[in-house]
Amino acid sequence: MSLFPELVLASHNAGKLKELQAMLGEHVRVRSIGEFSSVEAEETGLSFIENAILKARHAARLSGLPALADDSGLAVDALGGAPGIYSARYADGAGDAANNAKLLEALKDVPDAERGAQFVCALALVRHADDPLPILCEGLWHGRILHAARGEQGFGYDPLFWVPERDCSSAELSPSEKNQLSHRARAMALLKQRLGIV
Ligand code: IMP
Repeated sequence: MSLFPELVLASHNAGKLKELQAMLGEHVRVRSIGEFSSVEAEETGLSFIENAILKARHAARLSGLPALADDSGLAVDALGGAPGIYSARYADGAGDAANNAKLLEALKDVPDAERGAQFVCALALVRHADDPLPILCEGLWHGRILHAARGEQGFGYDPLFWVPERDCSSAELSPSEKNQLSHRARAMALLKQRLGIV
């Protein structure tokens, strides 16, 4: 039994929702913030963790429920950690395909050895909107940026993210494989430990 039998997930991103629901599903009744409001939180923080806290507080305020937020993105070594917290908006809101095209262009002269990157996931869980002690967990997934897209699974930058431990892109992993390896899976494993969910 979880301390939080019902949670609202502070995300309108269908890909993330699906993954988080798959990881938490049996233990917690997960509701989407979309059931309560379409107003998005302002992501004014300078770090993943700050933005996760802002989103969790916003969702708790709108729903009256404990809220879990994921702020995640891709940090590319050769770009000084960009697109980082701006991953979703890297191509000014034009969507995943435009983000991926912009990333390939930015790295077009960068050799393989310098194409290291990590997916980052920060999770914040607040019991209520003004919770002074959010539960915070982070997960990193190290890989490398490909020269062209591969695979059809996942979302966002998955087709460009090479997973060394599986010799394929993260868009070539099945959903269940990705949910065991990813930055989100790592952060979620820590969160489950904190919540006493095995
Ligand atoms: P957020 O919704 O502001 O946290 O932005 C997350 C963005 O980071 C997504 O829109 C994707 O572009 C990227 N991202 C985060 N996690 C993943 C992932 O697991 N695969 C691919 N892209 C991801």
